[in-house]
Amino acid sequence: MALPIYHLPVVQNWDCHVCGTCCQEYRVTVTEEEKQRIEAQGWDREKDLGGREPFLPHDKKRGLYILNHRDDDSCVFLSDKGRCRIHERFGYATKPLACRLFPFVLVPVADEWRVGLRFACPSAAGNKGRALSAHNSSLAEFAARLAEREGLTRRPDGSLTPPPIVERRPNVEWSDVLRLLDMLLAFLHNRRDPVERRLRKCLTLAEAMRPLRLHRLDGKQLRDLLDILAGTAEQETPANPLLLPRPSWVGRVLFRQAAALFTRKDHGPKRGLPGHGRIALFRAACRFTRGRGRVPRMHQHIPPVTFEELETPRGPLPSEAEEVLERYYILKVGSLQFCGAASFGLPFWEGFESLALTLPIVLWLARAFRDRPRHEAIIEALTIVDDHVGFNPVLATRRQRLSFRILTRRGELARLIAWYSR
Ligand code: SF4
Repeated sequence: MALPIYHLPVVQNWDCHVCGTCCQEYRVTVTEEEKQRIEAQGWDREKDLGGREPFLPHDKKRGLYILNHRDDDSCVFLSDKGRCRIHERFGYATKPLACRLFPFVLVPVADEWRVGLRFACPSAAGNKGRALSAHNSSLAEFAARLAEREGLTRRPDGSLTPPPIVERRPNVEWSDVLRLLDMLLAFLHNRRDPVERRLRKCLTLAEAMRPLRLHRLDGKQLRDLLDILAGTAEQETPANPLLLPRPSWVGRVLFRQAAALFTRKDHGPKRGLPGHGRIALFRAACRFTRGRGRVPRMHQHIPPVTFEELETPRGPLPSEAEEVLERYYILKVGSLQFCGAASFGLPFWEGFESLALTLPIVLWLARAFRDRPRHEAIIEALTIVDDHVGFNPVLATRRQRLSFRILTRRGELARLIAWYSR
C-alpha cells in the first residue's frame, strides 16, 4: 500500500506561473526509460532543437542523462514563448518526472511522504497559486514513481528509509525523530517570538540535546525530557537580540565564506562571477574573507553593494516579512529537508544548524535589495539562498561541515542570527 501524503500545517500556496526560471537554471536528470519515451516522440533535431542533441550522458552506471541546453543555458525543449515543447505537443504527463516534480520536494518521513517546497521557484516563495493540497493527486503519483525509481520498499517499521542519524550506533527510531521534529515545529509556530528568536531557541535546544544518548530513553522519558529542555530553552534564549555579543572575527569570516557559497550561481542566465573563471573566483574568495569594499556578484540578481552597506542595521522585520520566513522554516524543518536522505545524509542536528545559518545569510543579503519593500527583499534573498538547501553537495563536504561546526560550537551561529536581525 502506498504511503499517504502529509501536508504541514502552514498556509502555503503554489501553481506554476510559467516564468521559465527552472527551465533555464537547472540541469534536469532523466532515466533511460524517460529518454526512450521522449525520443519516440519524434523530435526533429534541426527544426525543434536548434541543431542539438536532446540528451547528454550524465551517470552511465545508473543509466541517467540530462536534458541538453542551448548557448543561453535554457533547456533545449524550451520554446521562444518560454513554454515546454514536450508539454505543448504531447501533454503535461509526458514530461520528465524531475520537471513535473519541481518545486515540490517529497521526503519519506516514517510512514508518510512529507511535502516540502523549493523557494528557488519564485511562485513558491511568493505564495502564489492554489493550496498545496490541491496538487494531491499529482503528488501521490510522483511519490509512487519516486519510490519505484529509487527502489524504496516498506521496511518492517512501515517506513521507506531509515531515520536520519541523531546519534551513532545505535541510532534512534523514527518515533523519536518525530518527537524532536514536533518540538522544533512548536518553537517555529510560536508567534509570540520573531522568527529569529524561534530559531535561536531551537539552537539552544539542539545544544542541550546533542550530547544526550536518546536511544536509552523510552517514548515517555523522551517527551518529559523535551518538555523540560524546551522550558530551559525558553528561559535561556535572550528575548532581545541586542543582548547577544557581536559575532567574533572568526565567526564573521566563516559567515562571509558561507554567504559566498549560498549566494553563488554557476549556470543559467543569472550566473554570477563563477562563470568568469578560476582567477575571478579566487579574487572573490579573498574579498569575502577581507569583508571590505564591493561585494563580488556571485549571482546576477544581487545589486551592486558594499560589505559596509550590508552591515548597516535595518531594524526589526515587518509582519509580512516575518510571515515569509515562518512559512519557509516550517516547511524546511517539518518536511525534514535539512538532513538525512533529502540532504546528502547530514545528521539531524548538523543539518538543522546548517539550515539555521541560512537565516543570517538571508537577512544580510536582503539588505542589498534596499529599493524593495522588506518582505519582497526577503523573498528575493530566499530564492537565491534556497537554491542550495539540500541541492548543493558542497554543503555536505568535510571542510564545509567543519566550518559549520566551528560556528555552532563557539556559539557564533546564534550571535549571527541576532546580529543580522538588528
Ligand atoms: S520556476 Fe516555478 S513558476 Fe517558474 S516555470 Fe518553474 S515551476 Fe513554474
